[in-house]
Amino acid sequence: MSGATSISYDDVVAWINTFAATIRAQKDYLTALDSAIGDADHGINMDRGMQAAIAKLPGLPARDVGAAFKSVGMTLVSTVGGASGPLYGTFFLQFGTATAGRESIGVDDVNRALDAAIAGIQRLGKAEAGDKTMLDALLPARDALHAAAESGASLEEALARMAEAAEQGMLATTPLVARKGRASYLGERSAGHQDPGATSSYLLLKAAADTWSGSASGEAPG
Ligand code: ADP
Ligand code: MG
Repeated sequence: MSGATSISYDDVVAWINTFAATIRAQKDYLTALDSAIGDADHGINMDRGMQAAIAKLPGLPARDVGAAFKSVGMTLVSTVGGASGPLYGTFFLQFGTATAGRESIGVDDVNRALDAAIAGIQRLGKAEAGDKTMLDALLPARDALHAAAESGASLEEALARMAEAAEQGMLATTPLVARKGRASYLGERSAGHQDPGATSSYLLLKAAADTWSGSASGEAPG
């Protein structure tokens, strides 16, 4: 897929499968992060939801990118308890609404879909930049993707810059004091730990970048 200028239905399915495989591989790590500032279930939550989500993809009736994302969103909402189920569910539902009826999408579509997905998370969770949540990975990633698209970067380069910004945002959550979610109950003691949701959001966008650079294995480990 290296050098491609648009994202096909099969690419989207590969991205979702790569994300699910990455979550499975990083399940214990995500749960360990959540044990420091939450209730030690983030890896378990995300793995349960993504395994259920990928099981439904082969049975979808049409090669509709939006329908694939919406299916993932509905499955996450219905199978994942905790904050991350509805939040990631909304992300994928909004991403799917923005790409409804499309057999392939380009970088401008990804930009619009990511904007809609982030807006959905903010409507639901009311978090802002710096609150030590998944948004601290998603917001800088969104800005980097917009900037890359404006500068005329290739699809592959734009997605790579998006993932790089998400990683920096994820790392920058460590010193923050949580103001939203379970970690906020800890107050100042939440500082000094990387946010689990920002970490899974980085993994989502990294899976996208890896899918279009051709470096994703797409296979579950073990
Ligand atoms: P729970 O906190 O219910 O146990 P998870 O452990 O699965 O759910 O997910 C925790 C993650 O959810 C946090 O690390 C944070 O990134 C994210 N999160 C929590 N509340 C919000 C919110 N209001 N807005 C955005 N993200 C949030
Ligand atoms: Mg938790």
